[in-house]
Amino acid sequence: MSFAGDLKDRIAADGMTVHDYIAASNAHYYASRDPLGKGGDFTTAPEISQMFGEMVGACLADCFLRAGAPADAAYCELGPGRGTLASDALKLLRGVGFSGPTHFVETSPALRAEQERRHPTAVWHDSVDDLPECPLLIVANEFFDALPTRQFIGEEERRVVMMDGKLAFEPEGEVAREASEVATDIAFRLAAHLAQHGGAALVIDYGYAGGEQRDTLQAVKRHEKVDPLSAPGEADLTTHVDFVALARAAQEAGARTSRVISQGNWLETLGLGPRAMTLAGNNPERADDIAAQRRRLSSDDGMGTLFKVMAIHHRGWPVPAGLGQ
Ligand code: SAH
Repeated sequence: MSFAGDLKDRIAADGMTVHDYIAASNAHYYASRDPLGKGGDFTTAPEISQMFGEMVGACLADCFLRAGAPADAAYCELGPGRGTLASDALKLLRGVGFSGPTHFVETSPALRAEQERRHPTAVWHDSVDDLPECPLLIVANEFFDALPTRQFIGEEERRVVMMDGKLAFEPEGEVAREASEVATDIAFRLAAHLAQHGGAALVIDYGYAGGEQRDTLQAVKRHEKVDPLSAPGEADLTTHVDFVALARAAQEAGARTSRVISQGNWLETLGLGPRAMTLAGNNPERADDIAAQRRRLSSDDGMGTLFKVMAIHHRGWPVPAGLGQ
């Protein structure tokens, strides 16, 4: 039977929490395709422009140097997609003498195959628990938003049920709160690793740091928002990341966290503007595209405000550039 048919049978029999629905749908979705780019369902920052990975790489390279360039450090990415961000970031890291190995945490066989084409010597892991015991330079871009989240209507957990032959949410009403223990658990374990072995992580995602919480569950297919219940396993399900919850978990694990700032602010502080000018100078025929890519990455009507950046780091490591007080 098809994935969707099987899932609907399970829901018709028992219903399931929104959390379990996201987990099941995304596991099938990511395992069965490469969803990124124009021909796919959504486009991420590293797929928009090489400048994004370069800024991430420059930030990690600076952090690595200020930490004394530990010879045993490794590059590590969570949910690396096509491996594009790793390629662009590692160019900068290699440029400052970083020669460590590449470790990827990735569960999708389809995306692992894509990553292997660009990074044949990388080492893959199913979970953050298996990462090597050494200082890590970690990036997680649009990783946490794909993890399952619980939603609550009052005190009651929101579920997906079958009603008149169609999937529906139960109970009805406004979502008062969301909580992802999968996300905070991963943040805790990453932070515990950093606190013990050294290193720093950049967490980049769309999300919030305080303020009002609401229903942030959304589904995207072919670059359009669709009803999250309309195509289980065939659309990308995400929720906004609660950066305050991640920071709290990371601190409990003994790591430090930076402030949370907008992606636009961070990229411009790191020098996205001058980098765009240099690239455009070297490629005059692409100058308009490069200017448009910069706007998409950092302006308020692009990804600039919605996306946030936060670092988690060992107390002896410097706060990564652009994220200090
Ligand atoms: N960071 C990439 C891709 C983002 S899409 C980019 O910016 O382009 C989300 C990524 O997380 C995919 O690689 C997906 O396969 C991976 N992923 C989703 N859930 C995961 C999980 N539970 N464990 C490990 N990887 C996961």
